[in-house]
Amino acid sequence: MGISSLNQLEKHLTLTQEERNWFSFPSTLPLLVSEHVMSLINKDDPEDPIRKQFIPTCFENMDDLGGLDPLEEEKHSETKRLIHRYANRAALLTTDRCFSYCRHCFRRRFTSNSSGPINEKELEEAASYLAEHKEIKEVLLTGGDMFTLSDEHISMMLKTLKEARADIIYRLCTRAIATYPERFTEKLFETLKLHNWGAPYYLMTQFNHPREITSETERIISSFLKLGIIPMNQAVLLKGVNDSVDVLEELSNKLLATRIKPYYLFQGDLVNGTEHLRVKIERGLEIEKELRKRLSGLAMPQYTIDLPEGGGKVILTHDYTNGHENGKWVFTSPYGGSREYPEKK
Ligand SMILES: *Cc1c(COP(=O)(O)O)cnc(C)c1O
Ligand code: SF4
Repeated sequence: MGISSLNQLEKHLTLTQEERNWFSFPSTLPLLVSEHVMSLINKDDPEDPIRKQFIPTCFENMDDLGGLDPLEEEKHSETKRLIHRYANRAALLTTDRCFSYCRHCFRRRFTSNSSGPINEKELEEAASYLAEHKEIKEVLLTGGDMFTLSDEHISMMLKTLKEARADIIYRLCTRAIATYPERFTEKLFETLKLHNWGAPYYLMTQFNHPREITSETERIISSFLKLGIIPMNQAVLLKGVNDSVDVLEELSNKLLATRIKPYYLFQGDLVNGTEHLRVKIERGLEIEKELRKRLSGLAMPQYTIDLPEGGGKVILTHDYTNGHENGKWVFTSPYGGSREYPEKK
C-alpha cells in the first residue's frame, strides 16, 4: 500500500541528489507515500511543499537535535501505550502505523517502530488506568494514525474505552484525511456511530498546506459532523512548506470554509532528523503577529511550542502589554500606536 522503495519512487519523480542520497543511509523513519499524496505533488517542482513533507532527503542524517523523544513521553508513560503528562488529559498510542510518513514526525521513537496496533491486553491496561484515574477528562487517540486500524479493531477499542469511561472526551487524531481519504468509508462511519454515546468525540486533523484540502476533505468532514464530531486542525510550522504568512492565511481560511477550526500551529520539536524543516522562533513570532492582523479570531490558530523534557505546551505570541505604571496598563495596538487602560481600583 503506497510507495516505499527507491524503485517505485523513481517511477513517479525525478529525484534530486539529496533525495537519492537518503537511500544510502535511510533514517529511523521509513519511506511511505500514498498514491493520494503523490497525486498532490507537483512533479516539476523540486521545492514542492507536499514533496518536502513526505519525500526524505539526506539532511535527515545530518543533525543531532535532541534524540528521538525530546518531550520525554516515555518517562511520562503510565502503561505501555498511555502517556499521562497533564493531570486532566492523556494520550493513547493506538498504533505505530500511518498511511504516509511525514518527515517532520516528532514521535519518531514510536512511529513505525514495529510495536504495531494496540492489542487487547495493552488496551485493558490503559482502560483500567483510565477507570482508576477519574481526574482524566480527555484522551487523545493517537499514534501513528488510529485510522490505519481496521474497522473491527477500532470498534473493539472504542467499546473497551467507552465501557471503562464514557464520560471522557476522546479525541480522534488523524492525518489520514490528508493522506488517505479513501479510508473514510460508509462502513467506518457506521462503526463510529455504533460507539457514539456518552461524552462527544472531537476530530483532530493535521493539514499543513492548503493544497492538502480537497473535495474529498469536504465529504469526510461532513460525515464526521453528521455524527456531531467537531473537527479541529493541528498544523506544524515547516520550513519551505508553510513558513509564509500568505500560505498560512490561505490554509486557515480554507480550513474554516471546510468547517475545521484551526487549533494549533506547532513550532517544530527537537527531534533528530528534522532540523532542515525547523523554523526560527523569531520568524514564527513575526508570522504569528502578521497572521493575527489578517485573520479573524475564529481563523487564528495558537502558535505553540511543546517544551523539551516534557515541560508542556506554551503559547507563543507577540507581547502586546507594554508595562504597567501609575495605575494604568499600556498596550501596543496590533494596528499601530498604543493605548492606556486604567487598572481597576
Ligand atoms: C498535546 C498533548 C495533550 C493535549 O494538549 P491540549 O493542549 O489540551 O491540546 C495531551 N497529552 C499530551 C501528552 C500531549 O502532548
Ligand atoms: S501522521 Fe503523525 S505520527 Fe504519522 S508520520 Fe505523520 S506526524 Fe508522525
